[in-house]
Parts: sequence; C-alpha cells; structure tokens
Amino acid sequence: MTLAQAVIEGADPEELERAPVPPTYTAAYIRKDEVGMFGRTPHGVNGVDKDVRRSLHVGEVPMPELAPDEVLVAVMASAINFNTVWSAMFEPIPTFAFLERFGRTDPRHDLDTHVLGSDASGVIVRKGPAVRHWRIGDRVVTSPAYVDSEDPITHHDSMLGGDLRAWGFETNFGGLAEFAVVKATQLLPKPRHLSWEEAACNMLCASTAYRMLVGEHGSRMKQGDVVLVWGATGGLGAYGVQLVKNGGGIPVGVVSSRDKAELLRRMGCEHILDRTQFEHLDDEKAWRRLGAEVRRLVGEDPAIVFEHTGKETFGASVYVARKGGSVVTCGSSSGFEHAYDNRHLWMKLKRIIGSHGANYLECAEINRLISLGMIHPTLSRVYPLLKAADAARAVQVNEHVGKVGVLCLAPGEDLGVEDHALRERVGEQNLRLFRSWPASP
Ligand code: NAP
Repeated sequence: MTLAQAVIEGADPEELERAPVPPTYTAAYIRKDEVGMFGRTPHGVNGVDKDVRRSLHVGEVPMPELAPDEVLVAVMASAINFNTVWSAMFEPIPTFAFLERFGRTDPRHDLDTHVLGSDASGVIVRKGPAVRHWRIGDRVVTSPAYVDSEDPITHHDSMLGGDLRAWGFETNFGGLAEFAVVKATQLLPKPRHLSWEEAACNMLCASTAYRMLVGEHGSRMKQGDVVLVWGATGGLGAYGVQLVKNGGGIPVGVVSSRDKAELLRRMGCEHILDRTQFEHLDDEKAWRRLGAEVRRLVGEDPAIVFEHTGKETFGASVYVARKGGSVVTCGSSSGFEHAYDNRHLWMKLKRIIGSHGANYLECAEINRLISLGMIHPTLSRVYPLLKAADAARAVQVNEHVGKVGVLCLAPGEDLGVEDHALRERVGEQNLRLFRSWPASP
C-alpha cells in the first residue's frame, strides 16, 4: 500500500510508518525559468492580465528530506491565499528571490520549482527526531508562520523574528500538494467538527484577522467598537466580521455587489456599504461622503478600520477612523504606495498599525475559537488539486467570496468530520453559509 493510500484509508500510525515515503509527489508549483513571462508592467495596469493559469502548474516534484524539527504532512486539503496569486504573478518580486536567500542557510528550498500554498489540513506521516509534541497519525492544520525558535525575540513575539517566513510563500514545499514539509511550531490540532476542506481554509486569514483585531499587537478591539471592514466577504474580511461580532463589536462591512451584501446580511452584519457607490476614493470629498454614510448607519465614526485593500482605500480609511481610532493594515491589494492626508492622522490622534500574519499563540487562540464552533469556515468553492490554477484564478479576478478550497489527497468533499454532535450543535447553516453564494438578494 502506498503512503497516500494508507492515509486515505485511515491507517493506524504503525501502518503509516511502514508505508514508504514516495520519491516524488504531485504539487502546484511555479517555475524559475518562467519568471519573466509576464513582462514588467504590473497586473491590471494598461490592461495587462497576468493570468495565473499560465504560470501555476500541477505536476510531480521531488520529495525533500525532513529537518529534525519538521514533520511530513499528508495533505488532505488546502486553500488559496492571495499570496499564491502574488507568487504566480511574480509580483511584487518573484518568490524565487526568497528561496535563494533561504537557500543560504537551508539549501533544500532553493530549487527551480516553488511549491506554493500557506494553508493545509492533513495527517502527520513522518516526524524529525526533535519533534516532541506530535505523533505520526495526528490530524492537524498548519499555521503559516515559519520561524526560527533559536532567535530570542521569537519568544516575545515570533512575528518579530529576523528569520520569519510565510510558509509556502517564502519557503518551498507548501500546502497545495499531496505532501508538505511543516515545522513542529506550525502545527495545531484539526477542529474535529470540520471536514478536511473546511479545516484547511481558515488558518492564514483567520489568524491574520485575529491579530489585527483581537491580539495584543493589533488594534485590541473592545466591546461596542465600530469596525469598518473592507472586503467584508473576502478571505480576511469574512473572518474580520465574525471576530468583531463575536467580540461584541459593531461591524460595518464594505462589499462591491448586492450578492455579497446579501451574504453579509446572512452573517448577521447589519451595516453594509456598497463600495461601487464610492468610486474614486482619492479625494477628501469622497472620504467625507463615506464618513457621512458610516455615521448615518451607526451614528458614529469607526474606532477601527480593518485595512488590506491599500492604495485605493487607505486615504479614506485614515479619514473615517474616529478621533483616537486606528487603522490596522496587513496588505495593499490595490497598490503599495499609499497617500493620505497626515493632518487627519496627527490632529485627530489616530494610529496606523502594521500587522502581519500571527504568532503561534494567536494561531492557537483562533484555532480554539474555530474548534469551539464560535468562528466558522468561510469556504465557498472547492477545486481538485489538478485544477489549483483555476482556483487561484478565481481569487485573482475577485470572482469568489470567503475562501476557495483545494482537495489534495482527500478523495471527495465532506470527509474527515470526527465530532458529529458538535457539528450538529454548530449547525450546517453556519458551516456552509458561504457555500450557498451567490444567493438571490
Ligand atoms: P480576497 O479574498 O481577494 O479578498 C479581498 C477583498 O477585498 C475582496 O473580496 C474585495 O471585496 C475587496 N477588494 C478588492 N479590491 C478592492 C479595492 N480596490 N477596494 C476595496 N476593496 C477591494 O483577499 P484576502 O485573502 O482577503 O487578502 C486581501 C489582501 O490582504 C491581499 O493583498 C493579501 O495579500 C493580504 N493579506 C496579508 C496577510 C498578512 O499577513 N500580511 C494575510 C492575508 C492577506 P469587494 O469586491 O466585495 O469589495
């Protein structure tokens, strides 16, 4: 029996250990020799379409060796994150540059192929001799922060580590594959009431949103805080909205269509803005209109603005945050060079908080909330691994809501649920809400 078959059939740990590790495995990857294929003009500028279906391939790659503090996970399911889209567009820089730098200390990663993917659920099938807390056969999800725990600052906050890397983006051997190489300090128990694909879609976006809103390094949302959430049905935003509601805040969600507005309503978000009503948010008049609309909806300015949309929205975000409020940002989908009027920042004592990923503790905390059924997966569609490029394309062109899942070794959807009683208590209507999109308003 092959290792993959043993995993699919739920073999016990001894059988898993007996099954040989294959010399190659199927994975979604980009190629170093294709780095220049799209030219230098950024995607979306002058009609340039850096279609990720051209650059993202699925095929056989060699199986790497394990380091002592790593495990080999047989990946049952994975998910698309926006970083896979960045990698496959070779923007803002080709991710092979990260692999080359990493290769100076760990030559395994510096290859002509980059296996992508920063989320996974699966089963541990091998472990290095330094791994103490995990066993072969454990069902796990992966957190995306790949850190060097010998760096002292990582014991304060691993996101400050000099060698911090986003797994499957700045490292090789990521989750969009049949097998993935994962550090022990990335592992968390799989939520038992979720299927493989539901479990795989959460960690990167949910943990990033958790740090931005709840964790001590972010905006530290309080009960009753009004939070403006850009992209409120997107990968990050849909967890942002849930965390605001779960923590007693008042979300104001921004979306771009009636379908998405309806989904947001079904999530229990009462206050909704359609950003297509506020095109060209590049001057103060437009910012004022947005601010007035937020006040009309909730009667006050947002204590927190949840930012990841970047250049096109940042000036407005700084403007609409209330006096003493904060703009917490982890990304720049519409462009990295932001312009805002600094008078609105300093005169109104506002703060801009940079946030990136989440440390292991924050990942464990959000995984606990998911495992308790308090925060739900936002899986909307599922593709097989062979169609990973189509899945990434859906995210690239903003055709999706929530998270787009990818089945790797899992032979079908809805497998892997262990705690059916909890699943029933949490309710299919919550767990499958995003699967029903688009729903007529
Ligand atoms: P996503 O699933 O594509 O969702 C982004 C949402 O933003 C979309 O649903 C879209 O919603 C909205 N949007 C897109 N363009 C916009 C624009 N020009 N103005 C206003 N809204 C716009 O992506 P995601 O996973 O949420 O990631 C969002 C960004 O955060 C990406 O740049 C990603 O790289 C970054 N990120 C960073 C970290 C980190 O740790 N630093 C972690 C995760 C993600 P509507 O069309 O409905 O408005």
